[in-house]
Amino acid sequence: MMEKNIVEIKKRIDAACQKSGRNPSEVTLIAVSKTKPICVIEEAYDLGLRHFGENKVQELVSKYDILDDKYGDTIKWHQIGHLQRNKVKQVIDKSVLIHSVDSLRLGQKIDEEACKKGLVCDVLIQVNIAEEDTKYGVTAQELLPLFMELVKLPYIRVRGLMTIAPYVENSEKNRDYFRKMRQLFIDIKSKNIDNSLSKINYDSSSFNILSMGMTGDYEVAIEEGATMVRVGTGIFGERDYPETNL
Ligand SMILES: *Cc1c(COP(=O)(O)O)cnc(C)c1O
Repeated sequence: MMEKNIVEIKKRIDAACQKSGRNPSEVTLIAVSKTKPICVIEEAYDLGLRHFGENKVQELVSKYDILDDKYGDTIKWHQIGHLQRNKVKQVIDKSVLIHSVDSLRLGQKIDEEACKKGLVCDVLIQVNIAEEDTKYGVTAQELLPLFMELVKLPYIRVRGLMTIAPYVENSEKNRDYFRKMRQLFIDIKSKNIDNSLSKINYDSSSFNILSMGMTGDYEVAIEEGATMVRVGTGIFGERDYPETNL
């Protein structure tokens, strides 16, 4: 079942790339394994998946700890859900990318903990592109000011943007949101940031990740420029309990 799902998703990713003149190697499939047990993750790993997304720190850390001996650095964990400041310390050296930075306070905390551990933490800024009350993330207007503050933090590297589009039956309804995200992404990437401002830690060539698209809309997201898609249900089937804290 899972094998069939993965083959189908990869086929659709290839087709979406083809349609939009992109190379499938530009798109990373993140298997969203929240609520799924270790044996299921092992099965996905054996089927070739290497990137896994979790929305709760505790779950990410416990899965990391269990699978670290077996897979080491070959398995990559992504913190895709809302992150509380008091949990930063636990996840910072276990996640390859934090997708959900949405405030300067959180950014400062990540910077502080990364400094203590002697690492530079890769992050994305989460944008609430449809301005839904139920979702985290900054608005399009708040994005640039936050970005300009985050790039001053020496132990953070801002790698790009992330969004969770609205839940829709027809994925075409999200196309405009994905297009807006791509435009915001390009606007920032092409910005000439004044390096004379002290302590700017930004190189536009490493600003290259656009994380958008889930089971219901990843093909449209890819057509509009996604470089990471986060797919849970499409790979693993329905989750046993509903998630919170998007
Ligand atoms: C759960 C989740 C996903 C995956 O959702 P599916 O619809 O099951 O593919 C993607 N991104 C985030 C942030 C999530 O929390």
